[in-house]
Amino acid sequence: MPLSTECRTAVGKRMGIADALKLTAKQRRELKCVKCGQRVSPHRESGSGRQSAHFEHLPGDGGPQPELSIERS
Ligand SMILES: [Zn+2]
Repeated sequence: MPLSTECRTAVGKRMGIADALKLTAKQRRELKCVKCGQRVSPHRESGSGRQSAHFEHLPGDGGPQPELSIERS
């Protein structure tokens, strides 16, 4: 499965992994998968470059959940 290098922000804009890695921890909590809408977190390149930077779904967020963050504006 190809690694995800793109996410969606709280306002629905797409963001690449390079930009997401510059965000604060608080901002990162709003990132979501472009495909399924679950929360994701950005991971830096690791393993001496064997694994490139990418997004991973957050553990424990494996199912449909109420949109708690959508009411802010
Ligand atoms: Zn997903």
